[in-house]
Amino acid sequence: MAEKVRKSEEEWRRELTPEQYQILREKGTERAFTGKHADAKDSGMYRCAGCGAELFSSDTKFDSGTGWPSFYAPAGEGAVETEDDRSWLMRRTEVLCASCGGHLGHVFEDGPNPTGLRYCINSCALELEPDEDPAPEA
Ligand code: FE
Repeated sequence: MAEKVRKSEEEWRRELTPEQYQILREKGTERAFTGKHADAKDSGMYRCAGCGAELFSSDTKFDSGTGWPSFYAPAGEGAVETEDDRSWLMRRTEVLCASCGGHLGHVFEDGPNPTGLRYCINSCALELEPDEDPAPEA
């Protein structure tokens, strides 16, 4: 398990954009279809916008039609943590970055095979590290 990233709220405020801060640290939600990764098809590793931890591989990304990037599994065991979320008169399962505790989104049980899970994640909480292009042919 990676080392935990701990920073003061002041440090987070300084390092994150206001939008990232609102989502990662204040559990906000970006408006559907506004995030840059919602329809992205690029292959690579989605890392935490707060701490850089590997969170989701593009291999598990699918088109959920919700307007938020959706994945059926995290990048590795222990990459994310979940917590019961009873805000807004709903019962949901919150998804957090296991390394920095940043709020990422929620997970629902209506996803595709092989897990049946749908990790519904804010674009703003993710930074895509694209796969290296294959070497051009000589
Ligand atoms: Fe993180």
